[in-house]
Amino acid sequence: KYKSYPYERMQKIREQSISPSLRMYYKKPLLLHQGHMQWLFDYEGRRYLDLFAGIVTVSVGHCHPKVTVATQKQLARLWHTTNIYMHPSIQEYAEKLTSLLPDPLKVVYLTNSGSEANDLAMFMARLYTRNFDIISFRGAYHGGSPYTLGLTSIGLYKHGVANGFGCSTTMLPDVFRGPWGGSHCRDSPVQTVRKCSCSEGVCHANDQYIEQFKDTLNTSVPKTIAGFIAEPIQGVNGAVQYPRSFLKEAYQLVRERGGICISDEVQTGFGRTGSHFWGFQTHDVVPDIVTLAKGIGNGFPMAAVVTTKEIASSLAQNLHFNTFGGSPLACVVGAAVLDAIEEDGLQKNSEDVGTYMLLELAKLRDKFEVVGDVRGKGLMIGVEMVTDKDSRHPLPAEEINQIWEDCKDMGVLIGRGGLYSQTFRIKPPMCITKKDVDFAVEVFHTALQRHMEKAAAK
Ligand code: PMP
Repeated sequence: KYKSYPYERMQKIREQSISPSLRMYYKKPLLLHQGHMQWLFDYEGRRYLDLFAGIVTVSVGHCHPKVTVATQKQLARLWHTTNIYMHPSIQEYAEKLTSLLPDPLKVVYLTNSGSEANDLAMFMARLYTRNFDIISFRGAYHGGSPYTLGLTSIGLYKHGVANGFGCSTTMLPDVFRGPWGGSHCRDSPVQTVRKCSCSEGVCHANDQYIEQFKDTLNTSVPKTIAGFIAEPIQGVNGAVQYPRSFLKEAYQLVRERGGICISDEVQTGFGRTGSHFWGFQTHDVVPDIVTLAKGIGNGFPMAAVVTTKEIASSLAQNLHFNTFGGSPLACVVGAAVLDAIEEDGLQKNSEDVGTYMLLELAKLRDKFEVVGDVRGKGLMIGVEMVTDKDSRHPLPAEEINQIWEDCKDMGVLIGRGGLYSQTFRIKPPMCITKKDVDFAVEVFHTALQRHMEKAAAK
């Protein structure tokens, strides 16, 4: 039990002095005290299993000892910008990071947030191709800056002011909620319950969605474009997965139009999908630019754009500067995170524990009508809640909220996503264990059972 802290005072200051645009989770938001690996502790001394990892930022574990020690050491030495001088940390980090990426992705530009990284990726795509138009998926979140807001396509984040010129959105190839379902066409241990008309080796849903992509290319943009940006698995929208070959075909169509392909790995990078270190590898493609944030720093504010020598040089025609990007502190954190992923075997853990969790959650989907879809790969998991599996109508907000609050009260924190906030997002620190999964699934089961009992009593 920790020293008590005046909760009401904190709440009051929050209401009076902090931007109301920053909305909080839960009826009674948590007042956190500390974190350790996959656990968070509040001021009342309650422990929570963190299945949302500080919005997918905590990759290796809250306050991972290796990252903490490395950061503390560097804090005592030097942490100001070294963009205009040299410090070994940035060279060493750039070498380490790029060694994990395939050719020709070998040049790094470090920034401080995912929005900044995607801003820069858009800028480079335009400078390099000398084209302007960029395509993104509906339902995507790529940032909140005026530049990236054009790519972000979720109504909740849209403001009625001019932003993001030259951005077009295209239909999301969502095989659960979209018009064409695919019961065996996504790269996940769990497939949708929706029937599809795919025949051996031919994915009908994929072909239909590719037709929609071509339609966007033919109707919304000029003959030549600057690029296309997509996450390998859509994050904020609730771990939406596309048919297996969609990205590969889309990349080819984009390149035929002179565009470059950007993979937003802000959520899917650093081993989270389990089978591969980078999400794009699960689609068997090599992008021209990848953007990294969140898990790159295990919660420390840092991000990166990695691209080819040629594309990087488009930005060198003039000066482009970022004061904090690539500080020694950030580079030391980033390097320690990469070491921890390797030394703790976290990619493999994502695969093993993630697959186990997906299969356990699929049992709940089969038992409860309101669990419409369980999907994802590794520890990038979505559980979509519906009124019933046939209609796939989103479960009303009050009902989802109750299940979600119940889970929190029983000690499990889960994220929310999707257009109607109907999907539970499960993206824990990658150090989570099977025992934790058993606990989380049991809690979720109890919350669902209570929900069904309440619904039956109505
Ligand atoms: N891309 C993706 C996929 C994201 O999920 C986010 C943040 N939710 C961003 C970009 C923007 O990152 P940041 O909040 O660090 O600007």
